[in-house]
Amino acid sequence: MERVECVVVGAGVVGLAVARRLALAGREVIVLEAADAIGTGTSSRNSEVIHAGIYYPTGSLKARLCVAGREALYAFCREHGVEHQRLGKLIVATDDTQVAKLDAIRRQAAANGVDDLRPVDAAEAKAMEPNLHCVAALLSPSTGIVDSHGVMLALQGDAEEHGAMLAFHSPLAAARVEDGGITVEVGGAEPMRIGCSVLVNAAGLGAWDVARAVDGLPAGAVPPRFLAKGNYYALGKGRSPFTRLVYPVPEDGGLGVHLTLDLAGQARFGPDVEWLPGSDFDYSVDPRRADGFYASIRRYWPDLPDEALVPAYCGIRPKLSGPGAPAADFLIQGPADHGVPGLVNLFGIESPGLTSCLAVADAVADALG
Ligand SMILES: Cc1cc2nc3c(=O)[nH]c(=O)nc-3n(C[C@H](O)[C@H](O)[C@H](O)COP(=O)(O)OP(=O)(O)OC[C@H]3O[C@@H](n4cnc5c(N)ncnc54)[C@H](O)[C@@H]3O)c2cc1C
Repeated sequence: MERVECVVVGAGVVGLAVARRLALAGREVIVLEAADAIGTGTSSRNSEVIHAGIYYPTGSLKARLCVAGREALYAFCREHGVEHQRLGKLIVATDDTQVAKLDAIRRQAAANGVDDLRPVDAAEAKAMEPNLHCVAALLSPSTGIVDSHGVMLALQGDAEEHGAMLAFHSPLAAARVEDGGITVEVGGAEPMRIGCSVLVNAAGLGAWDVARAVDGLPAGAVPPRFLAKGNYYALGKGRSPFTRLVYPVPEDGGLGVHLTLDLAGQARFGPDVEWLPGSDFDYSVDPRRADGFYASIRRYWPDLPDEALVPAYCGIRPKLSGPGAPAADFLIQGPADHGVPGLVNLFGIESPGLTSCLAVADAVADALG
């Protein structure tokens, strides 16, 4: 049997950040990835926004790790030449009933340590973004966009430079907690067993299956899982009508159908919130959902032409709470929580997981002691 100090399951942005963090600390690391490449999961199916940390409950992991992770990520991108832009975003009230919500958002942000939000009146918003309709807005200057694949490549490069190894086509099939460590069974074309003292479950949507496959983890430690798809539509033709990100006030389960830009300046709208009944990861975008998009977008961009939207792509949020329930926090479940030495499970790492990846990695290292 092979032996290695640390096994990280999943080569998404979080698993790679964890692998890098452990490798930088001088630990021996192997990353097991079921797919044939890095970042084929949620890390390639998101808005690529570096969030400021505005909306999350104060003191939550999402708030703390987003605020810490955002600045760490900007610095990492600068140091590693990863393409990013601090474009800023406007959070818009499209009628008078929403203006009070902007005040609440500003107070929430300040409590989270995001103290750079600036109120913008309708005239200034129009001057900034001539195509925008709103009655008032908040400008978040520290929100930006990033090349998520570039982030992952840079994390991989750093991790490998410090001795970490990546194994593709290598799904964790089972694991057993034993005296003095954890034995991992790797499936795929070349099954093998690896003994380790640290196992970090960063399998994203697969984290629940991985946790259930750990013989010795109390069954009660695995929380319920809910899946909420987020669909995106792009503009079929024409340039983006906006130069900054535009967000309506948040809605149940997500941030509302917002407009983000990619680094090439193309506009995309979404994600919406489509709760999935089963456990199938269906990545098709139903063209009929466009109807709801037109209505939402026209509240802040009344000139959106008919037939302008084309289905683009979708991602699936691994959630810890279901429809109508309050949004749950990230769950970083370490030995102090479940009693298994060396095991950390990451559950519910939805947005702002990309922004927070470096801070999540620090939190994992802390949980391991
Ligand atoms: C619609 C949407 C929009 C989002 N927008 C943003 C945003 O703008 N900004 C932001 O900060 N965050 C955003 N997020 C959140 C962010 O994308 C995620 O938090 C982040 O990508 C999660 O990374 P991960 O590494 O945990 O998961 P993943 O990227 O899903 O990686 C998990 C990996 O584990 C592998 N795996 C699964 N099971 C096994 C197994 N048994 N053995 C081995 N490998 C396995 C998978 O193949 C996959 O590669 C968004 C998420 C969604 C869904």
